[in-house]
Amino acid sequence: MLSNVSLLQLLNIVHGQLQLTIETQGADNVPDVVIRGVSTDSRKISAGDLYVPLSGERFNGHHFITQAAEQGAVAALIDQDVDAGLAARLPLIRVTDCLIALGQIAGWNRSQFHGPVVAVTGSAGKTSVKQLMSSVLAQRYCTWMTQGNLNNHIGAPLTLLALAPEHEAAVIELGASGAGEIAYTAQWVKPQVGIITNAAEAHLEGFGSLNGVVQTKGELLDFIQPGGYAVLNADDDFYGVWAERSAAVKQLSFGFSAAADVRASSLQCDLEGSHFVLHLDGEADTVRLPLLGEHNVRNALAVTAAAYALGLSAAEIIQGLQQATTVSGRLHWLEGQSGQRILNDAYNANPASVKAAINVLKHAPRSWLVLGDMAELGENELGAHADIGRYAHDQGIQHLLATGERSRKTTEAFGAGAHWFATKQELVRYLQQQTGNQDVILVKGSRSAGMDQVVQALQMNT
Ligand code: ATP
Ligand code: MG
Repeated sequence: MLSNVSLLQLLNIVHGQLQLTIETQGADNVPDVVIRGVSTDSRKISAGDLYVPLSGERFNGHHFITQAAEQGAVAALIDQDVDAGLAARLPLIRVTDCLIALGQIAGWNRSQFHGPVVAVTGSAGKTSVKQLMSSVLAQRYCTWMTQGNLNNHIGAPLTLLALAPEHEAAVIELGASGAGEIAYTAQWVKPQVGIITNAAEAHLEGFGSLNGVVQTKGELLDFIQPGGYAVLNADDDFYGVWAERSAAVKQLSFGFSAAADVRASSLQCDLEGSHFVLHLDGEADTVRLPLLGEHNVRNALAVTAAAYALGLSAAEIIQGLQQATTVSGRLHWLEGQSGQRILNDAYNANPASVKAAINVLKHAPRSWLVLGDMAELGENELGAHADIGRYAHDQGIQHLLATGERSRKTTEAFGAGAHWFATKQELVRYLQQQTGNQDVILVKGSRSAGMDQVVQALQMNT
């Protein structure tokens, strides 16, 4: 946290009530306790922390209050009755809902922070944009960002709570699996700049329809601070919806279309990275991005627009882009056990991102495309898998190996040079026999396909 909080302040922030013990009955003094941090995990409490017990399907954090006290917690929130003796061990604050109280404390901590805050949402590219945004902001600021993929109703508040005095800027990733979830986290984040990467037909169950996805991502726009900026994808079909919704704040658009405020031209994406001409504020500069694939150029444009909105110079922005580091599992280079060059893109897949990856792989003289199924594609899923096979063939990919029922269609459409495997083990065995130095192997599939297991097997001595 940015500064210590007294118990009295905390009671106000969470609208809570102190549970009184027999000894303190009638006393009107709130104990003089100072809270230095907040933790929802009783095993990770540091001395001086407030313990916030959360309840999930498999556990109830209220069962670990004693353990939290032993670890040094100086107070705990509760939203249900607990053993009366506990109140003698540490001050307990009764709230209506511990999860919401966590958000309230996070919101309070954010309100104490005076540096720029950027929030990122969208169907794909959030983590990639977050990482790249931090690389650019780091040119000027000590930047805090969402750790890993902790982007939900618990992760986002925890990210805000971890804002510390040394931080000067923050980048917060916001994810959602249903309507209202971005509004919930964005109300605490209150960004100066809100980026929406795109909207796609992914995880539709929670949203009902693509329109539901578009509206949910759009919730971020309602929480951009007055005078702040909405950064919107000019190439997205729903750009107009978001532009209308963010009319109360300033806007910058990004993309490949000529109408975008921040755009790229002369794009070249190969095995070493991406080159493009960045058009910003009437100037054109060549950028060499050490990230692979056209989608990362789009991500770089979003970041450029956001950084420009915050007043960073073109030189700072370009330097930050050129110093970017890859995120594991997103078109990330690894070495195979027999010297193969592996492009690990196994984190997730949809038709557009598989094609983007193929456009990178096609530059390899000896190319192996290794695919698992793409999930959640709806009615035309088999057609979409066949389309990928045709596309890979037309782009000159030499070998295609696939596993997963739907991917049979991909191999059929590719034709000669494609093999389908009933198991990942068989696929890995075949690859190990057939590939070595000089071979470039791209591994990709939806998360549920677990293609990271193929990557791991190729790296290990078996
Ligand atoms: P999650 O919802 O799991 O948090 P995310 O939105 O954070 O995902 P990333 O982890 O950045 O997304 O990227 C996941 C995959 O999405 C990448 O491997 C890549 O294939 C694809 N991707 C990344 N950026 C874009 C983009 N701008 N447009 C389309 N696809 C993208
Ligand atoms: Mg993510």
